Amino acid sequence: MTTIRISRRAPRTVALAGLALLGACSTISQQEEVQMGAQANQQVAAQLPMLNDATVNAYVNSLGRSIAATTSRADLSWQFGVVNTDVINAFALPGGYIYVNRGVLSRASNESELAGVLAHEIEHVVRRHSVKQMEQAQGANVGVALACTLTNVCANQAAQAAIQVGGTAVFARFSRGDEVQADEGGFNNVVRAGINPRGMLTFFQKLLAEEQQGGGSSAASSWFSDHPGTQDRIADIQRMLSESGNRLNGLRTDSQGFQAMKRRLAQLPAAPRAPR
Ligand SMILES: [Zn+2]
Repeated sequence: MTTIRISRRAPRTVALAGLALLGACSTISQQEEVQMGAQANQQVAAQLPMLNDATVNAYVNSLGRSIAATTSRADLSWQFGVVNTDVINAFALPGGYIYVNRGVLSRASNESELAGVLAHEIEHVVRRHSVKQMEQAQGANVGVALACTLTNVCANQAAQAAIQVGGTAVFARFSRGDEVQADEGGFNNVVRAGINPRGMLTFFQKLLAEEQQGGGSSAASSWFSDHPGTQDRIADIQRMLSESGNRLNGLRTDSQGFQAMKRRLAQLPAAPRAPR
């Protein structure tokens, strides 16, 4: 596997400075996190086929920011990008850069379902899951894995293959515990944003059905390989819903903005087919 030299002192000399790995056991400041995320974000946006549609982007950013604004890290410059692939996935970079694949937008039936996915990713950033892994890493393992998968330097995949690799990279490193935290925190983020969190459950169930029908090779397979313990997570979300009681009264499930985004999406050329 490719060795990547990373220096904290001279990041400009490092091709993959965006993924600069800090020394073992160091503490990563918010400024460093944001810088790392911004540079990784440039790499990802350059390598993945982005759906740069003004209407869709504006809606997804508006929804995402309204959720992020309710968290303890509202001060980050949250940015949400849509990757033009039918593969169902979403991932977060440090510093508040969230990517959601078009496959999620096309599967979501209402704002609540999309909000659940975004809120889960937002919570990974709020809890600094990837940053903590970098801080704890003894040596370059985490950074190199992230660099390889996000920047395509370790293998010559076709651009479309990189979509899945890019999505997998960021997720695969999260533990089941991290995923549960992201669900539970995400659930509360959605509620604070005034949105009904039931969409987290219905979207999971929809993906599960698609995966079972596709026999492990559906557009949802990437999601399941990146999100361990889906069945347990569904049960956990069901528990939170049943414990919420009146707290969910009056929360919205859908919006005109969501439906306008869906109509716009339907007008756009289909996403390029991705390998499964
Ligand atoms: Zn996750």
